[in-house]
Amino acid sequence: MIEENVKKLLAEVGTNPFGEKVTLVAAVKTQTVEDINRAIAAGITDIGDNHVQEFRDKYDGICGNPNRHFIGHLQTNKVKYLIGKTYLYQSVDRLELAEEISKRSERAGVVSDCLIQINIGNEESKGGFEYDDGQEAYQKISAMPALKVKGLMAMLPFTDDETVLRPLAMKMRELFEKLRDRDGNIEYLSMGMSGDWKLCVECGSNMVRLGTSIFGPRHYA
Ligand SMILES: *Cc1c(COP(=O)(O)O)cnc(C)c1O
Repeated sequence: MIEENVKKLLAEVGTNPFGEKVTLVAAVKTQTVEDINRAIAAGITDIGDNHVQEFRDKYDGICGNPNRHFIGHLQTNKVKYLIGKTYLYQSVDRLELAEEISKRSERAGVVSDCLIQINIGNEESKGGFEYDDGQEAYQKISAMPALKVKGLMAMLPFTDDETVLRPLAMKMRELFEKLRDRDGNIEYLSMGMSGDWKLCVECGSNMVRLGTSIFGPRHYA
């Protein structure tokens, strides 16, 4: 089942209307090492974790050397466990977190790639900078010595209403292009989960994070 889902999704994600290749990141929270390795064997090249403990517990069991993304809320005091092991910190949602990643990266002699998370729906339940603060956040974070900003990440509100979702997704694309116009490192707009990824890609996302559509419904312990 996982194998079939991966093959189908990899064929489907393709490119967005701007001709950019869309990267499929498997959102692996709650999944077993065996199932994650199945997805990798079927063609998944990038995996994203939400919890530092799970990331650490599974780290050595994962085969095939995929790119490891961190996509969940990250406590500042846990950053130290991820340094040098994380391909892309997608959920940089506050300056304090960016400062800690930069400080720890500098100490370890690495430069860490990150995305700035934007709370595009202005939802209390979600982290991220307010949309209007996005450019200022970019300026501050891109000036930190051991961080490289590679783009933006967002989660759309949980609704099926396309008249709500589409304008928000397009606003994200707009901000992404604004930053990309002045910074050649800007490459990724990470937006889209199992329920909304097609709409997000239509609006210009080039990175989607899928859990349920790869692994089926999650079972929380
Ligand atoms: C769980 C999660 C996803 C994937 O969600 P699905 O709806 O299962 O595809 C994507 N992004 C983040 C940040 C997540 O926590």
